Amino acid sequence: MASCFCVKNTSPGTPSNAACEPNQLPPPLARVVTLALAIAAVLGTGVSAASPGATPAPSPDAYAAQRQRMVEEQIRSRGVTDPRVLRAMLTVPRHRFVPDEYLSQAYADRPLPIGYGQTISQPYIVALMSAEADVRSGERALEIGTGSGYQAAILAELTDQVYTIEIIQPLARAAARRLRDLGYVRVRTRIGDGYLGWPEAAPFDAILVTAAPDHVPPPLLAQLREGGRMVVPVGPPGLVQTLWRITKKGGKLEFTNLGSVLFVPLVRP
Ligand code: SAH
Repeated sequence: MASCFCVKNTSPGTPSNAACEPNQLPPPLARVVTLALAIAAVLGTGVSAASPGATPAPSPDAYAAQRQRMVEEQIRSRGVTDPRVLRAMLTVPRHRFVPDEYLSQAYADRPLPIGYGQTISQPYIVALMSAEADVRSGERALEIGTGSGYQAAILAELTDQVYTIEIIQPLARAAARRLRDLGYVRVRTRIGDGYLGWPEAAPFDAILVTAAPDHVPPPLLAQLREGGRMVVPVGPPGLVQTLWRITKKGGKLEFTNLGSVLFVPLVRP
């Protein structure tokens, strides 16, 4: 079941190297900041960050402290520091995207089952992919593999042009409803084969593929804008995959290895 998570990286020097220790603790300063922010969140106060570079707290809810810990201990400490991405991870209520029986683990450092043999990805992987795709306000982003809708909601915090495709009909329907209920009304959802992309809405500035194909789908490459970024895990089903960032520059493709991951396979009809 374990899918959509980071596995120990064997290639030194790649961005996710040393980023995958599941129980990695933050450095002492980060722990102090975490505690201060967590207390503030519980007290319901607006928080001014205790140190330069710390992320402001979101509007508090019962899970705000857990989100804060997730961001500090699982994400920032592993090197994802883009303030816009951290802010999005602090804002989106991840507990609304997991089945009730997993509520207590909603902010845990792991993927969780969402039914139909699929999973919501580990928070760190969602943050890493969002940061590497470098989605800017006003840009057009495409996600393949809507699943729970969580990654789409994170993207919707970064830009108002989000398109997402899911092949399993009940998952797609539930995600569309969830996104609407949470106010992410501008996210466009579609039921279908994401391998083919969304040609009518192309080109895209960013494409995130959250299920693993065994090769990079040519239609998605074709739908990437000049200067656009695609983040995609590629590898054989059930085995460790490589997470790639592909940038289109001057009509050429540049590949960056972001480390080893394990996603559910991208299936074809
Ligand atoms: N991004 C999701 C988790 C992705 S799990 C989240 O945030 O919750 C991968 C998802 O990709 C699954 O829901 C699976 O059904 C879907 N998927 C697999 N193959 C697909 C395809 N060809 N087109 C669209 N979605 C696909």
